[in-house]
This record gives sequence, C-alpha cells and structure tokens, in this order.
Amino acid sequence: MAVLNRLIRSAVAARSPALTFSSLSSSIKDPSFPATTGRTAAAERNVQWVFLGCPGVGKGTYASRLSSLLGVPHIATGDLVREELNSSGPLSKQLAEIVNQGKLVSDEIIIKLLSKRLEEGGARGESGFILDGFPRTLRQAEILDGVTEIDLVINLKLREDVLLEKCLGRRICSQCGGNFNIANINIKGENGRPDLSMAPLLPPSHCASKLIARSDDTEPVVKERLRIYHELSQPVEDFYRKQGKLLEFELPGGIPESWPKLLHALNLDDHDDKQSAAA
Ligand code: ADP
Repeated sequence: MAVLNRLIRSAVAARSPALTFSSLSSSIKDPSFPATTGRTAAAERNVQWVFLGCPGVGKGTYASRLSSLLGVPHIATGDLVREELNSSGPLSKQLAEIVNQGKLVSDEIIIKLLSKRLEEGGARGESGFILDGFPRTLRQAEILDGVTEIDLVINLKLREDVLLEKCLGRRICSQCGGNFNIANINIKGENGRPDLSMAPLLPPSHCASKLIARSDDTEPVVKERLRIYHELSQPVEDFYRKQGKLLEFELPGGIPESWPKLLHALNLDDHDDKQSAAA
C-alpha cells in the first residue's frame, strides 16, 4: 500500500507535457514489443489511471468524477464504440451486432477507436487519462503496457447480486446525454455482510421524459457481458497485481458513502472537491 500511495501522490502532484499515443495503433500489429517510444516518466506528466470492474459496477460514474477532480480526460471505450455504432461509418452495423449480443469487439477495432480518440485529445493538448473499459483482455493490457506506463489500476467491486439490477436500472437522457439510474437497492446484511443501500440516481425534471436505456442493457445481454467479464478479467487483474499497481476497492454503497471513501483510498481527501456536495 505504501508503494501505491507513493505512486498515487507523485502521479497526482505531477502536471505537465501531453503524452502522445501514436505508437498504440502500430503496436496492435506486433504485440510482442516492448516499444520504446511514447513513454514519459510519471513525474513529468498527468495521471494515467485505469478503472476495472464488472458491467454495472459504476466505473463510468467514479471515473468521470475523478476526471473532473484531476482535470484529465475520462475515456470510456464503451462510449467510443457507441459513438461509432450510432454514426454512419463503415463499422456501424458490425458493431451493433457484436454489442447487442454482449460480445467483445475485436482488439483491432478497439485499439483503432482508442488511438483515434487519444490522437484527437493530444491535438487539443490533453494530458493524462482515466481509462474506463480498457483494457478488458490480457492482450489489451500487454499492448497498453508496451506503449505507456499506467500509474494505477482501480478495481471496483460490488456484490454480484446487485450488478444485474444496476445495469437494468441505467438510463440516459436522450437530449443531454446525462447518466442516471432508477434502481433502488436495499439489501439486508446476512452471513456477516453489512447492509447495502444504493439510492436511485434520478434525473432532473427536464430530463425525466427523455430517458432511454442502452440497447445492450437487457437481462440476457447483461448476463452474457457479466459472464464474459468474469472469464477474461482474472488475467488482467493478475497482470497489474504483479506490477504492484492494483488497488482493490469494494463499494460500500451508493455515491454518498463510496465517493469519500474512494477519495480517501486514493489519498485525495484534501483535494478541493466540488462534487461532494452533489453526491
Ligand atoms: P459495460 O462495462 O457496462 O459492459 P461498456 O460501455 O464498457 O459496457 O462497453 C459496451 C460494449 O462495448 C461492450 O459490451 C463491448 O462490446 C464493447 N467494448 C467496450 N470496451 C471494449 C474493449 N476494451 N474491448 C472489446 N470490446 C469493448
């Protein structure tokens, strides 16, 4: 933990040059590097963090809060896939089919979408990132490791019986894109487990009539995504555990309980947090 804390502190304290990822695209052709380009010492740049965790655990919620707090982009590969899927681009139909079955998109396509996003961000002067939904396979983790140094990997955990309900309760405002959740979770603790309450995250009244659900948030598709996640996540977690970068974080409840505890675990409790009031 002391090593992790040091890593976190130096990564948070450091702010400077943008990192470019031009080598990410080419690395997919040769996953057996290590590449020597694209690496910048952690002390000279912004944070480069990864969020791991099952569908529905809340990666997007916490990654996006941390991204505002630390001033780094939150890059969710699921969002990149949905943008491409909703465009009239050549991959659109193929992606819709894969996503709506709960399967993973190929590494080649994911790396292409991520490289494009990072290059566009680099051109805008973005530095650092919080990745959400990537890497999802050991191969993706190795590819990422070959092109840049990840400082910290936060593995969000939540009891399994809640994940399906959380996914089925997700709603998006079709106008502003805001994310909400109508699931109201109250589970009595048993067998030594504490109670678990997660209040719904309800939309403001102007969004209430415009809520839609993701097409892949149906019960059979969520179950398939959870199955695939469990099948592939262990090697990714082991990869980062061996590097001493994995921070396991069990969510104790909804945002009001979890957010301050997460900040504490990340040594960020003294950051000027304008979001706590809104939690
Ligand atoms: P969730 O974490 O809730 O399952 P995401 O929004 O992260 O959903 O991803 C939605 C879909 O996008 C996934 O089911 C998968 O088809 C695709 N996807 C996202 N990230 C990756 C990735 N790193 N590798 C392969 N496919 C991905």
